[in-house]
Amino acid sequence: MLRRAGSSLRHFLLERKSSVGYRSYSSKAKMSRPVQARRLEGTDKNIWVEFVKLAATYSTVNLGQGFPDFPPPDFLKEAFARALSGENHMLHQYTRAFGHPPLVKILAQFFGKLLGQELDPMNNVMVTVGAYQALFCCFQAFIEEGDEVIIIEPFFDCYEPMVKMAGGTPVFVPLRPKAPKDGKLMSSADWQLDPAELASKFSERTKAIVLNSPNNPLGKVFSRGELELIADLCVKHDVLCISDEVYEWLVYDGKEHIRIASLQGMWDRTVIIGSAGKTFSATGWKVGWTVGPNRLLQHLRTVHQNSVYHCATVAQEAVAQGFQRELELYGKPDSYFVQLPKELQRKRDWLVQSLDAVGMKPIVPEGTYFLVADISKFKSDVPDVPDSDEPYDSRFAKWMVKNKGLAAIPLSAFYSGAHKNNYSHFIRFCFAKEEATLKAASDILQKWKQEKTSP
Ligand code: PMP
Ligand code: GLN
Repeated sequence: MLRRAGSSLRHFLLERKSSVGYRSYSSKAKMSRPVQARRLEGTDKNIWVEFVKLAATYSTVNLGQGFPDFPPPDFLKEAFARALSGENHMLHQYTRAFGHPPLVKILAQFFGKLLGQELDPMNNVMVTVGAYQALFCCFQAFIEEGDEVIIIEPFFDCYEPMVKMAGGTPVFVPLRPKAPKDGKLMSSADWQLDPAELASKFSERTKAIVLNSPNNPLGKVFSRGELELIADLCVKHDVLCISDEVYEWLVYDGKEHIRIASLQGMWDRTVIIGSAGKTFSATGWKVGWTVGPNRLLQHLRTVHQNSVYHCATVAQEAVAQGFQRELELYGKPDSYFVQLPKELQRKRDWLVQSLDAVGMKPIVPEGTYFLVADISKFKSDVPDVPDSDEPYDSRFAKWMVKNKGLAAIPLSAFYSGAHKNNYSHFIRFCFAKEEATLKAASDILQKWKQEKTSP
């Protein structure tokens, strides 16, 4: 029957092809009308696409894009292998749209414990394709034409285009650096919000604020006082909080990651966003989640069911098993959530020391696996181009990748258009790397410094 249908279709097409009408129709087939939807205007450039390509082209030591070059923990890889080749072949099929039941159940248990309240796995948790999709669902679900969304600068770059694509207007408020005392290295804690300036950004048009603590790119871990300031303003102006906490386990020096949803009046208005990519050093798996009140999550489910619908089952099963293990070992020395930050703090300290030694002054991060460093002393190698449209740090980072084989990301990528030149003498390094990679980066910098100082 199918074969018969196929032969009559071929016959029909041959007949059409031989007719003049068909030929003239196909030669005019090129479209001339503009095809791009207006909401995409100004969102076509992407720093990751650009720098991933540059790093690949110049076969560099890559401390640019944020991913570990060491493997995820064995227990996680084994869980994935078991899910992939075990008896339960249904793990190769669709699972529940809003999250594989074992994963939402364990996430509800885990975050319930962290937040000190009972969570319903089916209503208070939704699994997404990485934290990216969780963010996208939030903006699509909550933001309308004319709504304002407050974004704290510097910020993870996708917040701005996502707000714009949803029809909203981003309103930026900067973290302002204070010079450290006694010639000490600057810390990410020295970058602070001005309370009056923050308050001035809230109005009746404000629908949401995006909070990212620990913050990418600075590594700032917001203190309880800072979070209370934000929470009070959210409550006062009846504003939502989209809380991107993908680096929640990566905090150093005994600092504490405080969840804004646990503060007075905040649970009801906050969506917490997390990422297995960052939590378990498996960015390629693209498993993320949202946690929050059903009142908010029901709208995320609407966006999700009408766009992505479902996330990879095998990866969700493995992440569920990873969380099961971490729940059993919670707070114990063998827990990955204890071991990973310990290991990364060592790597942070090593990179801080090597950057400081060559005069690329680091801002010591309290969290994340990123570190921002001052390139002012290296400016003589990469001359400034007055009146250039491109921020200085962007030209510097491109020059460095091409001429020194070392990749990092310009800080200006984390600022909005009008503010890109405000702090454009910094670049961001990722230190979630094998020791050999960090050593190779340090060797490049040392050689560079020697070349500068030798006559
Ligand atoms: N938020 C922040 C602050 C990030 O740095 C990233 C990049 N990992 C994401 C969200 C996106 O995370 P995912 O890879 O899970 O989509
Ligand atoms: N979040 C990662 C970073 O900040 C990378 C995101 C991406 O590659 N799109 O480096």
